[in-house]
Amino acid sequence: MNNDCIFCKIVAGEIPCKKAYEDDEVLAFYDIAPQAPVHILIIPKVYTEDITLGNAALAGRCLAVASKLAGELGLADGYRIVTNKGAHAGQTVAHLHFHLLGGRQLGLSMG
Ligand code: 5GP
Repeated sequence: MNNDCIFCKIVAGEIPCKKAYEDDEVLAFYDIAPQAPVHILIIPKVYTEDITLGNAALAGRCLAVASKLAGELGLADGYRIVTNKGAHAGQTVAHLHFHLLGGRQLGLSMG
């Protein structure tokens, strides 16, 4: 656990969240400032900043959880999975996370 990390505090239960999914390795919870009708963050429970060859399975598990949630939440018309990395992408929380966005027509811009 990184004591300076807000998402680690959510994993530890020190900060409340609305959970969408949880297993031993992955937590998914609703974003506090949703950008779409469905906006869920999927994170590895362990503090991780990057997707590496060493943790690729964990990143893949996060993506599989996103896909599972999209199915369960009825996003049959489509959805987007986004991960921001660094200042140019507007990343605000260093703990690796994937945004699942859906429930409305999303913009076509990629940046
Ligand atoms: P980033 O900009 O780093 O890609 O995304 C960080 C996301 O975390 C933002 O969408 C922001 O709204 C969300 N967020 C920040 N703090 C909290 C929190 O305490 N609870 C929840 N549920 N989401 C948070």
